[in-house]
Amino acid sequence: MEPNMTTTSSQQSNVPVYQNFIHGRYMANQSGESFAVRNPATDEVIYHVEVADESIQSAAIESAKQGFAVWSAMTPIERSRILLKAVALLRERNDELAKVEVLDTGKPWQEAECVDVQTGADVIEYFAGLAPAQVGQQQMVGDDFYYTRKEPLGICAGIGAWNYPLQIACWKSGPALAAGNALVFKPSEETPLGALKLAEIFVEAGVPEGVFNVVQGAAQVGQWLTAHADIEKVSFTGEVGTGKKVMTSAASTLKDVTMELGGKSPLLVFDDADISDAVSAAMLGNFYTQGEICTNCTRVYVHKNVYEQFIDELKTRTENNIIAGDPMNPEVNLGALISKPHQQLVLNYIAKGVEEGAKLLTGGEALRPDSAPNGYFVAPTIFVDCHDDMTIVKEEIFGPVMSVLVFDDEQDVIKRANNTHLGLAAGVFTKDIQRAHRVIHQLEAGICWINAYGNSPAEMPVGGYKHSGIGRENGVETLDQYTQTKSVYVGMNKIESPF
Ligand code: NDP
Repeated sequence: MEPNMTTTSSQQSNVPVYQNFIHGRYMANQSGESFAVRNPATDEVIYHVEVADESIQSAAIESAKQGFAVWSAMTPIERSRILLKAVALLRERNDELAKVEVLDTGKPWQEAECVDVQTGADVIEYFAGLAPAQVGQQQMVGDDFYYTRKEPLGICAGIGAWNYPLQIACWKSGPALAAGNALVFKPSEETPLGALKLAEIFVEAGVPEGVFNVVQGAAQVGQWLTAHADIEKVSFTGEVGTGKKVMTSAASTLKDVTMELGGKSPLLVFDDADISDAVSAAMLGNFYTQGEICTNCTRVYVHKNVYEQFIDELKTRTENNIIAGDPMNPEVNLGALISKPHQQLVLNYIAKGVEEGAKLLTGGEALRPDSAPNGYFVAPTIFVDCHDDMTIVKEEIFGPVMSVLVFDDEQDVIKRANNTHLGLAAGVFTKDIQRAHRVIHQLEAGICWINAYGNSPAEMPVGGYKHSGIGRENGVETLDQYTQTKSVYVGMNKIESPF
């Protein structure tokens, strides 16, 4: 399935133009409006995408209604078989899809090749397996009884962020489709191609037309989805501020919502920890995907007894082991940030850190690697001598910027770690098994790791406390969030009536 090819007058070069994906095929809009997508590592326009205008929007809903009627009438095991075919196709096309993600996001090939497609496929596989096992309940009430049915919600909307575009599309479509819903998905306009490729795969696997439609565009298209009366649920991944707008809009039609939002997560390193492992975790949790991961441990609290050892190793490994450059080069392990404005935003935060008195241990500037001189790179940056009230310690930066803080007392560091309105993730490094659990149980975060950081298997529910989110993705409970319970009471006796 090829997109239309056209010459764009603004660029005077041949770049593909992708249309919206509605009812099992690409569909042209009527307005002719489109937007350009750039490769963050080269600053070049790599393709254009048509905006979902009114004609596309109404087609998407009509198609989803038809798709839902067909899909929800299938048995869970029939749906499961089809979804498992899609999983096989995702795995078969791993490299092709990973390349799409590298070119759209600027992340290193060495990550996309083994994480993005595979973790997406894992989640669809998990929910495909789980759906046929979902059961209602039955209970006698005297001679009468009732039973419950887990029914799909109807048409759901998914709205994605740009850091893991294909994975996010899989994480939302997996449970939504397994439970029998139709999904209209809007990827970020920075990274729109992965979702289209997933739509192609679903159709090839046998998912009926209209069950997974992809609409393209910016906030306006997202807003339309959140306000549409025929959409029953919105699953959103993005910033806290946008999440609040989405929820407000969804409230006008009482939609169910799942909110996967931002974080400013703490990592606590105690003095009995394996320091090399803790350094690995801090680096993974700040520099993987060039720091553009929602769960990143951007506040690293280190016990004063191991502080010097920790920052020595951290500095050495950061300066010696990180290779920025053309993300398609398999040696490269630090890619480009998503856009020039985002690069500037991250650099502004770094300047603010310096201004407020934090000390740069390493990094702190934009990079121009020889193999990708026009890319939006920022050097892996570590601040020490940080205080809890600094802007860089309080606000989500979403770039490769780590703040290291010192602590002495367990209760005090727990209090400091919790002193934020965000609560997405948290980590603890210690060899003391009792302390590990004691501390983790007191941390106000939905996703926690002990002597690990960042792992997110399909089986494990993930989501935020406080302003970091509502609801969960992955894990058994997520399937429930895409169903509604119907209770059916069955009378076994003649009805007694006073009338
Ligand atoms: P944004 O909130 O800017 O955008 C997310 C999505 O919402 C995009 O598709 C965007 O469209 C769309 N959108 C923007 N405004 C509206 C609106 N008013 N109504 C409906 N949709 C709208 O987030 P980013 O894309 O910048 O992603 C980064 C953020 O995502 C970070 O805060 C990060 O922490 C968070 N995130 C959270 C994750 C989690 O699981 N908790 C995982 C990954 C990221 P467009 O971009 O096209 O304008």
